[in-house]
Amino acid sequence: MDWEGLSRALAARYGSPRHGNPTDPTDCLFYLMLSRKTPIRTAARVYKRLRATVRGWDGLLGLTQVELVRLLWGSGLEEIRAGHLLAVAGLLRDRFGAVTLEPLRQWPDDECLAFLMSLPGMGMKTALCVMLYGLDRPVFPADAHCIRVLKRMGVIDARLAHRPAQRELARIVPGHLGYVLHVNLVAHGQQICTARCPRCAECVVANYCLLGEAAQQAAEGQLPYGESLRRT
Ligand code: SF4
Repeated sequence: MDWEGLSRALAARYGSPRHGNPTDPTDCLFYLMLSRKTPIRTAARVYKRLRATVRGWDGLLGLTQVELVRLLWGSGLEEIRAGHLLAVAGLLRDRFGAVTLEPLRQWPDDECLAFLMSLPGMGMKTALCVMLYGLDRPVFPADAHCIRVLKRMGVIDARLAHRPAQRELARIVPGHLGYVLHVNLVAHGQQICTARCPRCAECVVANYCLLGEAAQQAAEGQLPYGESLRRT
């Protein structure tokens, strides 16, 4: 894969949006915990409400679980989410003396990842997103959009399950392009290369894509489209 060319084409089309993610690592951590399995607008609304109530993140520990569940109302899985938020806040204060990820700025990448993944409710994708958005690290978090698009492009085996695909992409995507590729592949997956029906005729990166090439051949009558899909 020509990663440089792909990242340039995607950035020119989508403009590298941050998708609402804060720049501060601790803000980023709690924002991402709220945005898991929740529409982005809902997560942003609940995050704003929570932030305004607790002010500093140490304020989380002054809330009871019931109060926190009430504040998280509308985000879904409120009981579980509240439990994870309180547990993470407690662990950070025990470890660093405050509810903060600031010390991680000095840590190497592998230690940051191991620590973040050890926190309650954190998976690999969320941990890598905290590193990418909040700590400016050269990593590539692969969410469902990134995985779907890169499978269709033929970068990874289409039969790979979600977690092995995440690990494989974290390994093969060049770290220095991690941010640009992640944010723009998410935008591409949301807008054009959607789960139900990729709009290949409108795709600016079809020349990097096996499925796009197959669709083009089918349109030109060189290959039946169904046959093209089977080959990818
Ligand atoms: S050509 Fe089609 S399948 Fe390939 S990335 Fe573009 S929209 Fe997705």
